[in-house]
Amino acid sequence: MQTGKIGVTTENIFPIIKKFLYSDHEIFLRELISNAVDATQKLKTMASVGDYKGELGDIAVRVAVDGKKKTITVSDCGIGMTREEIDRYLNQIAFSSANDFLDKYKDQSSSIIGHFGLGFYSAFMVSDKVEVITKSYIDGSEAAKWSCDGSPEFTIEDCERHGRGTDVVLHVDEESKEFLEADKIEKLLKKYCKFLPVDIIFGKEKEWKDGKMVDTEKDNVINNTKPAWTVKPSELTEDDYRKFYRELYPAGDDPLFNIHLNVDYPFKLTGILYFPKIKNNIEIQKNKIQLYSNQVFVTDSVEGIVPEFLTLLHGVLDSPDIPLNVSRSYLQSDSNVKKISSHITKKVADRLSDIFKNNREEFERKWDNLKLFIEYGMITEEKFSDKASMFALLKNTDDRYFTLDEYKDLIKENQTDKNKTLIYLYATDKTGQFGYIDKAKAKGYDVLLLDGQLDVHLINHLEGKIKDIRFVRVDSDVVDKLIDRAEKRESKMPEEKCEDLKSVFGIKSKSNEMFTVMVENLDENEAPVLLTQSEFMRRMKEMSQVGGGGMNFYGELPDSYNLIVNSNHKLVVQISDRLYAEKGTELEQNNTERNRLEDEIEFMEKEQIRKKEEEVSQTEKDDLEKLRKELADIETSRRNILEVFGAGQQTVKQMIDLALLSNNMLRGEELDAFVKRSVGLL
Ligand code: ADP
Repeated sequence: MQTGKIGVTTENIFPIIKKFLYSDHEIFLRELISNAVDATQKLKTMASVGDYKGELGDIAVRVAVDGKKKTITVSDCGIGMTREEIDRYLNQIAFSSANDFLDKYKDQSSSIIGHFGLGFYSAFMVSDKVEVITKSYIDGSEAAKWSCDGSPEFTIEDCERHGRGTDVVLHVDEESKEFLEADKIEKLLKKYCKFLPVDIIFGKEKEWKDGKMVDTEKDNVINNTKPAWTVKPSELTEDDYRKFYRELYPAGDDPLFNIHLNVDYPFKLTGILYFPKIKNNIEIQKNKIQLYSNQVFVTDSVEGIVPEFLTLLHGVLDSPDIPLNVSRSYLQSDSNVKKISSHITKKVADRLSDIFKNNREEFERKWDNLKLFIEYGMITEEKFSDKASMFALLKNTDDRYFTLDEYKDLIKENQTDKNKTLIYLYATDKTGQFGYIDKAKAKGYDVLLLDGQLDVHLINHLEGKIKDIRFVRVDSDVVDKLIDRAEKRESKMPEEKCEDLKSVFGIKSKSNEMFTVMVENLDENEAPVLLTQSEFMRRMKEMSQVGGGGMNFYGELPDSYNLIVNSNHKLVVQISDRLYAEKGTELEQNNTERNRLEDEIEFMEKEQIRKKEEEVSQTEKDDLEKLRKELADIETSRRNILEVFGAGQQTVKQMIDLALLSNNMLRGEELDAFVKRSVGLL
């Protein structure tokens, strides 16, 4: 037997290894299996070039758990090691790489996802003793057993092994006994080894027999050794891609398209990305891409490696060139990662562009499910936005699709306002805003449907990108004013009467809403009362709701609406006529009084302006103040007369309620009162 001391600088590095990457103890299994797979692959390569002339035989890697002996064993039939190789690879190389690793990352253990580099020595994270029984593939080699109990001392002795290959036996320590449960190991194998290129076998397949689960004769193979991304695209059918998607996400909807990536230079990258159907709720769709390094699973968190919007895609990326043993923040500045990320962005844009060009029909059919992804990309990635502007579609309320350029041409004629701004009319709710959409269409306008989760942001984005355009929601103003073309309609009602109507229709907000009453001379066939909502205020509120930073202020404001009274409508004219018939004398008196006060105030003001400040006496100042107060009282009393009159008019209430009703804003008690009043009026 040979004994020795591993060339240590630290007195005992094992306690450090044990503590290190505490939460990631489970990766020991991946490290050991990766080594076993490497050893097997090396042998396969040698056999294929004729350097190994023996039988390959069964070359599966086997994992076994022995609960009684408290061991986990990873066995391969790979190249194995000679005594001299054990000394070189385990005592010197493996140890020094573990040591280097610790040196390098001591201070940032928590920020490391770091998985690679610790290698063989990660076995000590879960064991108090590790044995390696190995026999080299080289003819005439003797088997040897290396053993180390976690101190820097190791032993090497002769032993027996049935054939070439290596068994790594972990004597699992007390703290790590969870790893002695077969279910736990199987779960880890499924996570890390699902697509390794050599069969990984863990026990036997089980079946249900006589009321319990029993082993069958068949090996339980964990992995698919030839996952679709490692196969040439020309050898795969659409069905293969779909099947592979199922393998990755057994519970998902079928994807829309896929992209097969295959780059050799200047970095290595393979993978298949899928476009899932995304209707809404971006957040839950994120981070489904799995990242592999030579078919070994590394992580399913690609944030920092691909641009944010691409995290909505599903699938796998496999690259040995992504440095995974560094922190996320460092990753973003890594030049390979940057190149990979812009390569993927470009591929994604190209693929979409191809489908759009070659099969627009299919593209349109899938647009509704694709739109959120594309919009997300356009809003967040300048480069993608430039490309996407060629194929991004706008859908109108008649379910027709247009590219940005096509749409511009469509509305240029009819929807340019007096300032040469192109007005894009849109609705966010086809049923809720039906009336407004209908009126706009009757005027010959086209109305877009923008009801997606990111549409508010998209609108801002496009307004910033395309010159001289503005988006206006159909219910943000009366149809005549949606697109201001400087046309004037004659008002039949004098201004003073319009002013009075404002108070007659003045309604008090009941819930968290604000109403500003305006009287306007609209078409006589237009509704008597209409409700509109300022584009600006509504958008600010919506932006703050979808989480535009620093806009909480708008989110807390009440909804504000304009209540527009149509002074040309027959019913409104009737109300106005009735007002002067009933309250004419009172209002006339109020008017006379007001005129008198206004004249007096005007006279006094002129007097005082002529004098210098210090020449105006206190009495004069007080008199003017008194008159102003009287005028204010007179105005209040006029408003009172008008409001009391308005409140007594069933038709006024009815007209306002109808406007609220057509916006789905009449609820509860008020709705009930409206129904009763309507029955009464019948
Ligand atoms: P790495 O795998 O990154 O080189 P490790 O610490 O995991 O580092 O392993 C050190 C070396 O030990 C390997 O490079 C390999 O030569 C040898 N080795 C480890 N496991 C095996 C095995 N199962 N079969 C043959 N050689 C092995």
